[in-house]
Amino acid sequence: MASTSRASAHRIGSLLFCPACGTLLDLPKDDEDEIACAQCGRLEPSSSYENLPTKTYSSPTAFPSALRSKRALVQDQLTDGERAKEKDPVAQEKCQKCGNIGLSYKVMQLRSADEGSTVFYKCLKCGDQTSVNN
Ligand SMILES: [Zn+2]
Ligand SMILES: [Zn+2]
Repeated sequence: MASTSRASAHRIGSLLFCPACGTLLDLPKDDEDEIACAQCGRLEPSSSYENLPTKTYSSPTAFPSALRSKRALVQDQLTDGERAKEKDPVAQEKCQKCGNIGLSYKVMQLRSADEGSTVFYKCLKCGDQTSVNN
């Protein structure tokens, strides 16, 4: 019954990104069952958060160790096929949060090819994640 190609939010580790515009979605509040995309207003059911690898953290810095969340990240990407078996490349970029040099990155093609791609960076030290639209 369930299809793997339904249009739900893109999951990167414990983060969800709007499938329509690629914006990072907020965490749902206790009394909300939908999260509205700040960019395009698309509604994502907060149930999308329920099976995330880490659902209880109170601050953006409270990610699990970089290695563990990197593993979760790779497993999430497995469903997307392509780059799955490869190890993430590492860019000699500086983390905005902790100043560490060395961010693993991956390029993700969002829905349509003519909208360009999004590069997701992840700090190998503190796990801080950022995305850049090309
Ligand atoms: Zn959006
Ligand atoms: Zn960092």
